[in-house]
Amino acid sequence: MSRTVYVNGRYLPEEEATVSVFDRGFLFADGVYEVTSVLDGKLIDFPGHCARLNRSLTELDMANPISDDDLLEVHRNLVRRNGITDGLVYLQVTRGAADRDFAYPDDPEPTIVLFTQAKPGLADNPAADRGLRIVTVPDQRWGRRDIKTVQLLYPSMAKMAAKAEGADDAWMVEDDHVTEGTSNNAYIVKGGTIVTRQLGHEILHGITRAAVLRFAREAQMKVEERAFTVEEAKAADEAFVTSASAFVMPVVGIDGVTLGDGTPGPVARRLREIYLEESRKAAL
Ligand code: PMP
Repeated sequence: MSRTVYVNGRYLPEEEATVSVFDRGFLFADGVYEVTSVLDGKLIDFPGHCARLNRSLTELDMANPISDDDLLEVHRNLVRRNGITDGLVYLQVTRGAADRDFAYPDDPEPTIVLFTQAKPGLADNPAADRGLRIVTVPDQRWGRRDIKTVQLLYPSMAKMAAKAEGADDAWMVEDDHVTEGTSNNAYIVKGGTIVTRQLGHEILHGITRAAVLRFAREAQMKVEERAFTVEEAKAADEAFVTSASAFVMPVVGIDGVTLGDGTPGPVARRLREIYLEESRKAAL
C-alpha cells in the first residue's frame, strides 16, 4: 500500500513525492532531521523533538519552513492517513535546492519532507529482553555532533562493522572515552549509579536521554553526567542505550565481555518501564 508523504506543503502518494537533484541535502548533507516515535497512534516526546529541530536549524543558519503548531498537525495527519498505530515519523529539513556551490545560497527555500514507517509492536521489541551486544569503534564523526544533521555515513559504517563481528551495535570512542552509540546515547551503571556522558558538541542531546535522566532522578536513582572509559564500561554492573525509537535498551556485552550475568540489568529494565509508562501518558 502506498504511503502518504508530506513534501513542501503537499500530501502526496510516495511514488509522486520527490525533491530536486540540486537539493543541498543530497549534494552536501546540508540538512537536519528528527525521528519521533508513535505508540498507540500518539506522538512520543514531540515537544522535545520540535525544540531540538529548531536548535539544529539555528546552529546551521537555516530557516525553519514551518511553525511548531503546524508541524504537530502534519505529524498527526500523516499518522492518521497512514494508519500508524506503532511506528515513527521521520522529518527532514534541508537548506533547499541551489546551483552547486560550497557557499550557502543567498535566499534558499528550505525543503521539508516527512514520512512514516509502521513498526508493529515497537514497544515490545524482543531485543529488550535479550539485551544488546556492542563493540567499540573509534569515533570518526565531525566535531558538531550536537547538531542532528543527515551526515550519517560514519554511524552506518560503524553499525555494519558491529554486524560483521556478530554484534548488534557499536559505541564510538574518542580519547579512550565513550561518546555515544551509532544512533543512541550510552550509559553504564556501577554500584547503583547511572553514568552517561555530559552534554557538549561531542554527542547528540538525546530527547530520550533528557526524559530518562529526569525519571531516574525522580525515582531517587543516582546520576553522574561525565565521560566514562571503555575499561570502566566493561567492568560495569550493567549498561544500556536510549533513543526515540529504541526507548531504553539494555546492553549485556561490550567487546565480547559479558556484563553481570549476561541478562538485562534491573536499572535498565526499570527505566524502560518508567519511560514507556510516563511517555505514553504525555503522548500527543
Ligand atoms: N545519539 C545519536 C548519534 C543518535 O543518532 C540518536 C538518535 N537519533 C541519539 C543519540 C538518541 O537521540 P534521541 O533520544 O533524541 O532519539
